Parts: sequence; structure tokens; C-alpha cells
Amino acid sequence: MHYTKRHQFGPIESLQMGVGYFGPPPVSVHSFYIDGLLIDTGPPKLGNELLQWLDKKALQQVFITHHHEDHSGNVNPISSQFDVPIYGSLGCSELVQGKVGTSLPQKLFWGTPVFTDRVMAYNKTALSTAKYNFELIPIPGHAEDQVALFEANQGWLFSADAFVSPQIKYFMKKESMAQQIESLKKMVALDFDLLLCCHNPITKGGRVLLQQKIDHLEAYYGSVVYYHQKGQSPRQILKSIGVKERWLQYFFSGGNMCAINMVKAVIRDEQNR
Ligand SMILES: [Zn+2]
Repeated sequence: MHYTKRHQFGPIESLQMGVGYFGPPPVSVHSFYIDGLLIDTGPPKLGNELLQWLDKKALQQVFITHHHEDHSGNVNPISSQFDVPIYGSLGCSELVQGKVGTSLPQKLFWGTPVFTDRVMAYNKTALSTAKYNFELIPIPGHAEDQVALFEANQGWLFSADAFVSPQIKYFMKKESMAQQIESLKKMVALDFDLLLCCHNPITKGGRVLLQQKIDHLEAYYGSVVYYHQKGQSPRQILKSIGVKERWLQYFFSGGNMCAINMVKAVIRDEQNR
């Protein structure tokens, strides 16, 4: 069953979207709308619901925070229905044109990624609407092309998928932990009140939670390096740091979303230093 819920954060509106097979959806994602600007377009499965939500809005422009299908999934229907520019980082505009990796759970809950050539590379450092000015801050790690939008006067930080939760239990294959830590440090230094995370918007105490995530990832990173230097394999390291693999998720995702990917990300980051 398709599930949507409308939210309001001051003048910012959001549509929360998800698919539930046995009750409420286990994962959901928000698209945000503020002053003619749509930030992210939701997953392919929820295209009709997103268009319905946008129906009476004076949409002027769209910004895609990163190429993952739960953010870029409805670029094509939006571009068919509205004559507005759709922007993303250079990396995003390129990645959405090619084959994006997916897995069974992603297909079930978000839908099959749709390729599109309709995301324009936006190379300026800020994006304006009639009332607001958003600084565009590259925050790679979860995805290489990920960008945050920061409205300094209002204290709004649209953080894409950089936060999600202070404790992360699994990574996708291509994530970088070193970059995530660096990006989170960039974000925590900003003066914001609202942390508009696409999977978990936070209205109070966002900075404390970001710092908790930094602390968690730094400790995790340090432990993995320690055991890696002792010559342990990724599976042995996972055991040594007391983390259990999420086997069901591991098998269903074909190894795309699992705990071992966090260990492998650290080893890769260390090799790329
Ligand atoms: Zn993502």
C-alpha cells in the first residue's frame, strides 16, 4: 500500500512517502517544498502521489540532493508536467543518466531507478527563491554527488541523507565513512535550527544528534583501523567490534545494504588516503 503524510515545518511543506506491504512502511522519504522550490522528487513508486501534492503549487524550480532513486525518482514525470528547471550537482546530473545500482528491497520499497537526462548540472554555490537564499554545500559520503541546502537567515539545513540517525547499522556498497565524517563536521559547524533530513526531519536538538553521529562514526572508524592493522579480515573485524550482521537484509539486498559494508568502507578509505 502506498503511504503519504503531509508535514509542515514553519513555511516549509513536506510530503512523506513510503510503501507498506504488511502495515506501515518500514522506510519513508520526504520531499520538501518551499517558496516555489521542490527539494527532491521522491521514489518512482510514489510518482502519482507526488504529482497530486504538487498540483496546486506554483512550482518554479527543483533541486535534487543526490542521485538515489528515492530522491530523483520522479524527475521525468515532473519535467513532463511542469516547465521548470531541475537542478543537481554535476555528479548527480551524470549519475542519474547511467545505470544506478539497486537491490530487491530498494525495488520493493522505492521502485526501479529511472534514468533521466533532465537533471541540469548546477555549478553555482547558491540557489535563490523569491524570499530565500540557499547555500549549496557538497556533503559527499553517503553518495559522492550529495549536496546540502543551507538557508542561513532562517536556520534551515536540508541535509539530504547525511544524517538519518545518530547510530548507523548498515551502509550501501559505495559509501565512504571518512567523507561522511568530514561532511558531518562541515554541517555541525553551521548555525541551524531545523535539520531537514529526508528520512528523519529533526526540529529540535539537531546539532547534538549530528555530533553523536560524528562520535559514533569516528569511534567505529578507529576500531576498524585498529583490528585491520592487526591483520583481521572484514568479518573478523565485525565480530571483534561486537556488531552483528543483518543477514536477512544482507541476502535480500544481495550484499548492497549490510553491516560488513561499513567495515569495508573504512578499509577502502584508509587505502585511498
Ligand atoms: Zn540516499
